[in-house]
Amino acid sequence: MAIATIAIIEDEQSLVEALEYNLQRAGYRTIAAKEGFAGLEMVRRERPDLLILDLMLPGIDGLEICRQLRKDMHLPILILTARDEEVDKILGLELGADDYLTKPFSMRELIARVHALLRRSAMSAPASPAGEAGPAQILQSGDLTIDLTRREVLRGNRSLPLKTKEFDLLVYFFRHRGHVLSRQQILEQVWGWDFVGGSRTVDVHVHWLRSKIEPDPAHPTRIVTVRGAGYRFEG
Ligand code: CA
Repeated sequence: MAIATIAIIEDEQSLVEALEYNLQRAGYRTIAAKEGFAGLEMVRRERPDLLILDLMLPGIDGLEICRQLRKDMHLPILILTARDEEVDKILGLELGADDYLTKPFSMRELIARVHALLRRSAMSAPASPAGEAGPAQILQSGDLTIDLTRREVLRGNRSLPLKTKEFDLLVYFFRHRGHVLSRQQILEQVWGWDFVGGSRTVDVHVHWLRSKIEPDPAHPTRIVTVRGAGYRFEG
């Protein structure tokens, strides 16, 4: 496997040095920026395999960088945060960070998290057409992980009990992330042509799914209703 590149955006010089030293010793290539704008640009240009991101930064802060990157990149993001910052917000769907560490942390812990995130992201990467591995069996987005083989859904580290059709619907959404899907289309693909339950069935299942995966089910941000058209899964 190629050497993974880890990007670091952190303004504390001594911490950057410690991170680079330890990550390189663990066999990774590192790139670093100490300011928000430069960091965002570096990640877009270099397309690293993982980003270690401090929240409090000069220029644009870590929250905004996270939001910006989540629009068009799927790299794993590990947030570094001071003790008083809100962990809920960090792991919230709005932000889409994959993991976080509270300062001060041990380098051993950090390396372990980096290993885990890269392993997870390698499993969710699309298989190459020439590869023998077959299609990926793990789908991942924000704090949601779907294990297709075991038909299991995790939100963070917590297992989500989903009914069969809820599971199928979620997988269908994952595979068509960002696309507007009509109720008819969803019915055909998830329930099969012969189903005659009507679009209300889709709405009910979307309602149930939202109650399980949305941070605020009353104001959905993951499964968005597109007026007059259907639904769109934002990831
Ligand atoms: Ca900082």
